[in-house]
Amino acid sequence: MPWVDEELCNGCGLCVEECPVDTIVMNDDVADIEMADCIRCGICHDICPTEAIKHDRLKVPEEVRANVVKTEALMEACEEYLGDPRERQKCLVRTVRHFENMKMIAEKTLAELEKLMK
Ligand code: SF4
Ligand code: SF4
Repeated sequence: MPWVDEELCNGCGLCVEECPVDTIVMNDDVADIEMADCIRCGICHDICPTEAIKHDRLKVPEEVRANVVKTEALMEACEEYLGDPRERQKCLVRTVRHFENMKMIAEKTLAELEKLMK
C-alpha cells in the first residue's frame, strides 16, 4: 500500500485531485491516504512531484522492528499476568507460530496469484 513521507510532501494536492477513488485527503497541508479504500492503481506514485508517496516495501524494516517490540511486550505481559517466568517462552512460541501461519498464508496466496498472471 502507498504511504506518504510527510517530510517530502509539499501539500500541492495533486494526488488528491488524481486519485480515482478519492481516498487521499489533506491534513494540515500533508496528504493522507485512507488505505482501506485504496485500489493500488499507482497513479499517486506517478504524479507526485516530490516522490513523497512511497511503496510499502520501504516500511519492512520498521514493521519488523515493531513486531519484535510487540512480541517482547507480550512476553512481559504473559509473565506478569500469569505470574510465572516460564510463560515468557510459551508466549514466544505462540507468537512464532502466528508468524509461521502468516508466512504460510502469504506463500499460498502468492501461489494462487501466480495463476492469475498472463
Ligand atoms: S502529490 Fe505528493 S507532494 Fe503533492 S500533496 Fe500529494 S503527496 Fe504531497
Ligand atoms: S494508489 Fe491509486 S487508489 Fe491508492 S491512493 Fe494512490 S491514487 Fe488513490
